[in-house]
Amino acid sequence: MIYTDTRDNSVKVDFKTAVMNGMNSASGGLYIPTSFPKLDSSLLSKDPAPSFRDVAFNMAKPYVEGEIPDNDLAAIIQDAYPFQPKIVPLDNTSYVLELFHGPTCAFKDFGARFMARVMSYFNRSEATPLHILVATSGDTGSAVGSAFHNVPGLDVTILYPDGKISAIQEKQLSTFTGNVRALKVKGTFDDCQKLVKTAFTDNELRSKLRLSSANSINIARLLPQGFYYMYAALTTRNRCKIDNKISDPAIIMVVPSGNFGNLTSGLIAREMGAPITGFVAATNTNRTIPDWIATGDYNARPSVETYANAMDVGAPSNYERIKAMYNLDEVRGLFASYWLDNNGIIEAIKACHQNTGYIIDPHGAIAYKAWKDIKDGKLEELVNGKKNDFNKPGLTPSVPDWADKVLSKKAIGIALETASPAKFGSTVTDAIGREPPMPARLEEIMRLPDNAIPMDNDYGKFKDWLIENL
Ligand SMILES: *Cc1c(COP(=O)(O)O)cnc(C)c1O
Repeated sequence: MIYTDTRDNSVKVDFKTAVMNGMNSASGGLYIPTSFPKLDSSLLSKDPAPSFRDVAFNMAKPYVEGEIPDNDLAAIIQDAYPFQPKIVPLDNTSYVLELFHGPTCAFKDFGARFMARVMSYFNRSEATPLHILVATSGDTGSAVGSAFHNVPGLDVTILYPDGKISAIQEKQLSTFTGNVRALKVKGTFDDCQKLVKTAFTDNELRSKLRLSSANSINIARLLPQGFYYMYAALTTRNRCKIDNKISDPAIIMVVPSGNFGNLTSGLIAREMGAPITGFVAATNTNRTIPDWIATGDYNARPSVETYANAMDVGAPSNYERIKAMYNLDEVRGLFASYWLDNNGIIEAIKACHQNTGYIIDPHGAIAYKAWKDIKDGKLEELVNGKKNDFNKPGLTPSVPDWADKVLSKKAIGIALETASPAKFGSTVTDAIGREPPMPARLEEIMRLPDNAIPMDNDYGKFKDWLIENL
């Protein structure tokens, strides 16, 4: 596969270069494959649907062709995924796709574990370590730290905004030892991301250290996230025959989004033949993308703190990739969008619990409520010309091409549950009056000592620290 760049389409690199560089320091752009090969129709039409690992292997194959042989790829997939996504029906036409069954209890394990194994594969013959810099607004850092921990030849530095993530998230970041460490930055997620981006474009630093990224800008995190969209779409399509007797349903993926890596992976899965009709971009108050879809103007802005803090992103990096794949009209055809403020998030967790008994986390709750509103008539109101104000929480006043499928009850929604509710225990408890169950692997982490290193929001100091300590 040849990869190009969102800012310079004369760029042509192989998979290894795209993965190891993370982003193109010359242009500041993001790598993107030049094509999205369709899976074989025999695989797409299989009933029962193929297993998660089968889907993963077949989707990864064209992107690593000629660089990772089949047996090594199969070993990477096997080692990366001892767990898999789970599909939970909430009612006739609503499903939750649970993506938190990996070691750090969030969906980012899917991308991070694949990427770590691919990087380790490509780094086998190198004499010096590869230094991974990661900015995280919550779950990226722990997934990356966990995925790379004790992997030889790789070294990880995590930057997170001090005081802006939950207690469990902080424990998950700050308790690593050995080749993984965390810096707590006096600033926001966007500040952390800027420090990392500046480091990548600093040629003097890059002459001293081999640097790579691991957040959602790395193509080796984005591609594997497509696996669960394909798996869920194929599996759900087949079970609809029993669940609701809708044959060939319009499958709508409802994606709680921040940096829009997850949603971009869904777009890739769709290009590869996943039976996905559309998407709902669901955000918190950081509604840069919903506003873009509503108004046509893209205005990146500083991030705002919310209860769904892994989505506190005001300048989503993957906007560049979405724009490289589709124009605004196509995006409006494919996407509905939706946002909730903090009050709405609490109400959504409560509504989900009351209506279905399911305990959902603050991120997934926005997706749940988005689909519920769409199904319960908010999209129909829009179709009938009732223009709601995009400055108010709820459905963005833009009608996707698939609206008729919802109105004729031929659509099903799959809300992506991106984290275990236990990671956001206090918000969930506030909403439903009881604590969500705590997975054992989280409980163990709460007992480990905190090793995070304080860091000012100052590139000079950050650079000096890197040079002295790595
Ligand atoms: C990272 C994260 C998101 C947002 O994913 P993006 O790919 O940045 O859009 C949503 N929910 C949780 C729990 C996350 O950790």
